[in-house]
Amino acid sequence: MTVLPDGKLHFNIAIDGPSGAGKSTLAKMIAASLGIPYVDTGAIYRTVGYAVRERGIDPDDGEAVASMLPSVRIEADFTGGAQQMILDGRPLGELIRNHEISSYASKVSAHPAVRGFLLEMQRDIARRNSVVMDGRDIGTVILPGAEVKIFLSAGDECRARRRFDELRASGSDITFDKVLSDIRERDRRDSSRDTAPLRPADDAVLLDNTLLDADATLRAALGIIRQKVPGAAVKS
Ligand code: C5P
Repeated sequence: MTVLPDGKLHFNIAIDGPSGAGKSTLAKMIAASLGIPYVDTGAIYRTVGYAVRERGIDPDDGEAVASMLPSVRIEADFTGGAQQMILDGRPLGELIRNHEISSYASKVSAHPAVRGFLLEMQRDIARRNSVVMDGRDIGTVILPGAEVKIFLSAGDECRARRRFDELRASGSDITFDKVLSDIRERDRRDSSRDTAPLRPADDAVLLDNTLLDADATLRAALGIIRQKVPGAAVKS
């Protein structure tokens, strides 16, 4: 942990775990409690998935995806408070949030060229600010020196139920069985890929929130953060 010239502490919080564990809900709540930015790395992979889909490239074709990368410009803008993904100058907003793009993101994220392409971008954001960053390999690969690492998980049916409720609330007519089978497929792909597979860092604290609601999950996480970074100020 370092102290910045303005006297503030610089520290990073890494939250990893499978789809639907509630990482982004937790990370946003931590960010609001500590007054630091939330970095959603899934959104960055979704942006690559979106670009691949828009160009009609097969997301499983690693060579085709790799050869697209030099021609795209991906930026994350935090000026409005929330992270906005920008592709070649165009803000994407909610366009990256549908079920099809989830699958594209999961497929493109298995290619080493994609992970390498996005590595420095993620590290650079965390160097310039104290952040809470969520993803799959933040504690293991992107920020191995993060002061706090939490591996958040929950049973797959519980995660599928949460995702299903979210999708239904946003107007989708998807079935629960489809959401559950897609979550299992994404778990399998994220955990078995050769590059940066989903796994807890050796020094991560495991937090299973199957039986916890969002507030109880936040309380547990803030307890972990206070132990690791006693100086992190929690806003009242
Ligand atoms: O977290 P989210 O569901 O938005 O992520 C979309 C996909 O991007 C995930 O299924 C995962 O395959 C991939 N991803 C990743 N590494 C990250 C964040 C997301 O591989 N750090």
